[in-house]
Formats: sequence, structure tokens, C-alpha cells
Amino acid sequence: MSAHATHNTRLALHGGEPLIQPPVPTFSGGLGADAIDHEEIHAVTQTLLSKNLFRHNPESQTRAFEHEAANLIGVRHALAVNSGTSALICALHGLGIGPGDEVIVPAYTYIATPAAVAAVGAVPVIAEIDESLGLDPADLPNRITPRTRAIIPVHMQGIPARLHDILHIAQQHNIPVIEDCAQAIGARYHRQIVGTFGHAGIWSFNHFKILTAGEGGLLFTNHEHLFERACLASDPAMPLWMRDHEDKQQWSTPPFSLHCFRASEIASAILRVQLRKLHTLLTHTRTLKTTFLHELHLQPRPRGYRLQHVDDPEGDCGISAAILCHDPDTAQRYAEALRAEGLPCGTAYNPAGFPDRHIYRNWTSILQQNSPHPAGYPWKDPHYTRPLHNLPPGNITYHPEGCPRSLYILHRAIRFSFNLRMTQQHAQLMARAIAKVDAALA
Ligand SMILES: *Cc1c(COP(=O)(O)O)cnc(C)c1O
Repeated sequence: MSAHATHNTRLALHGGEPLIQPPVPTFSGGLGADAIDHEEIHAVTQTLLSKNLFRHNPESQTRAFEHEAANLIGVRHALAVNSGTSALICALHGLGIGPGDEVIVPAYTYIATPAAVAAVGAVPVIAEIDESLGLDPADLPNRITPRTRAIIPVHMQGIPARLHDILHIAQQHNIPVIEDCAQAIGARYHRQIVGTFGHAGIWSFNHFKILTAGEGGLLFTNHEHLFERACLASDPAMPLWMRDHEDKQQWSTPPFSLHCFRASEIASAILRVQLRKLHTLLTHTRTLKTTFLHELHLQPRPRGYRLQHVDDPEGDCGISAAILCHDPDTAQRYAEALRAEGLPCGTAYNPAGFPDRHIYRNWTSILQQNSPHPAGYPWKDPHYTRPLHNLPPGNITYHPEGCPRSLYILHRAIRFSFNLRMTQQHAQLMARAIAKVDAALA
């Protein structure tokens, strides 16, 4: 072996030369935040100068954004709100879900998903994930009870969940599906945009998402009745304002009063610009991920890891990738070695450092069944704890070890992200760094 090769195969962790110098560039927000330029600035300035910052006005930026988003998604109705969590809450109210009901969520998602369920007075039921890092369809039948009123698959990190199997089970049990696409704006499944397979889909526009206005959310659906109820949940005065300023005259739903999640005109002006950038952003990240996977597939076998399962690679946003090592200790060692090579990465489970807060174990308020009210709502709500309408009493218990298979998968996972600052060469080097570490440590 030449001196050069020896030099190159020695891990940076063990004093060798890092394979990637300088390290792969990182960015602490989502693609959308990194893409902000004079176009967003101009849109904000114009909106301010219009001196009309209320969403219900004849020149409404929000209305225009809703139309443009609905067109891009290919749905009849879109409702802009102030956050992704609000959009989930509106979707749940749209389906009439509340006290006494259960909603199934995956063990790996941002706390907003179970929190939205609790916020409408329903009880979140946590289901296992599989090697897609999304909801495991095989575990769904174990979690379905007579009280189950919805299933919320989450398309984590731009990767479409196993929709085919999830929808099949949901249909068998006649349970509606709400797709949480907060992290997967523009992802597709069998060529159709995610969020359009279930009864409703939601996007989030917080700082970390694929498109952003700092904060914001969108609910979209083809169901008129669900949409009306979501509108009412987002703003009790919605029918009045719409009658004055927008095209909706007829409401089949009697109005009810709930929250005010009204969208901001400034956010909507930004989001109209961001939406036009979506295609370019995802083209970049998809190219990076394709390059990365191509290079990885050239590496010799056997390997000390498996790739995350992706049900429909074509629909993947390409903003992330994950490998699953054979055991948790190996994952820690790989991650450490990869970082030394100049490849920033994280293990999902990191007991010593910063834990991945998307793991259900870290949803303290849910696991402890904490309530904002002494009545213990929603877990102690009599609609839940007593037999009702021929339903047996509900009784949920949460354990930190309640989803052991999810923990076992997450403890072995190492996650990488792709961002706008990276070139195809970075993507190639990432794969080579993995191969180098794998050859040295496997
Ligand atoms: C970001 C996110 C949400 C909603 O978040 P907001 O901060 O309320 O916009 C919901 N679900 C998932 C999976 C998310 O990542």
C-alpha cells in the first residue's frame, strides 16, 4: 500500500487527514430561510406600503397565496394560518375530533403532532415507526381501538411515509387520515403530492421548514365540509369577513367559536415568493441526494449499515438521508468518526449530548399526561374515561419504553442533511467519508 493510500485510509479520528476539507457546509434553518433574497424583501416592502395588513381585503396576499398553493398542490381548498400546529388543530376540528377520541401518531415526529391532538381534547396514541423512520403500517392494527378517529402519518425530513400500506389499513377500519407534511413540502408519492392522499394535509412554514416566513401554516383538502369547519376553527368571524371580501357566500356548517389563527399578510407575501422557489430548491437537494446515493452504491459490500427505507425515492425531497448501523454503539462510533472526517451528522439517540427531540421519549408533556386545567383534560375527560355511546372507557398509558422497536431503530440511525450551500462534490465526498469510516470500523 502506498504511503498516500495509508494516509487516506487512516481515520481523522485516529490522526489521519480529514476526507472533507473544509467540512461540508451547514445551515441552521431550512432551505427556504437560506433562499431569502431581494424578492422576499421587495414583497414585504410592497405589502407594508399597501398599508393594508388584514388578510380579508380585496388585494389580500393571503387569499392569493392560498389560491397559488392550492393550484400547485392540486386541491380545491387551502387555508393559510399562523403555524403548522394550528393547521393540524384545524384539520382535527375539521373532522369533528375532540373529547373521547383517540388519534394515532408516530413515535418519531415533532411534538406539534401529538400536541395538536391534545389541544382539541383528544388523546394521542403513539405507534411504532419502521426503517422508513415513518409510521409502521404493521403496528397500526395494534393501536386501533373503537375510539380511534384519525391516523396522522408524518412525512419526516422530506421523505414520504409508507402511504400505500397506511391508507390501506385506514380504509379497512374506516378511519380518516390527516397527513402531516410539515417537513415535506413538495414531496410526492407515486407522482402525487403528499398531503392529498388523506382527508387533509398540512404544511408548516417555521424557520426550519422547506419554505418559510418565520412562522406560518397551511391546511389543504378536497373536502368542502372539512374546509368550512377548519375555517371556523381558525377564526370565528371567518364567515362574516368572507362574505364581505371573498367569494364564499354559502356555508353549510353552522358557525362555531374557537381560536384565532389568522394568517399574517406579511407572511403570506413572503410565502408567495417562497412558493415560486420551491421547484428550484428541491431540484438542488434532489440532485445532491441522487449523487450521494449513486456514490454510496459504488462502495464495496458488505457494509456495516443499511440505508433508511424510502417507499418512493422519486418523491423524496432530498433534504435528508439516514443510515442504520447494526447496533447503537456502532452508530455512536460511526457518527463520531464521520464528524472528524468533516461530515456533520447526528445520531437520533444521543444520551450524552443533545437528544433528538422528535423521539416520543422527549415529549414530556404528553408522556406525563400534563394538562393546562385541573380537570386533567384530555386524558381525564369523562368522555374518555367513561363508557360512552357503546364505547368502552378509554385508558391510555405512556411509557418511555412504550415503542421499543422505534427506539431500537432510532438508536442505530445516523442522519445527514442536504442544503443549498452544498455542491454535488460535497454529496460525493459525504458518501466517500461513509465508505472510509465503514471500511475502518465495520
Ligand atoms: C414543524 C412541524 C409541525 C408544525 O410546527 P409549527 O412550528 O407549529 O409550524 C408539525 N409537525 C411536524 C412533523 C413538524 O416538523
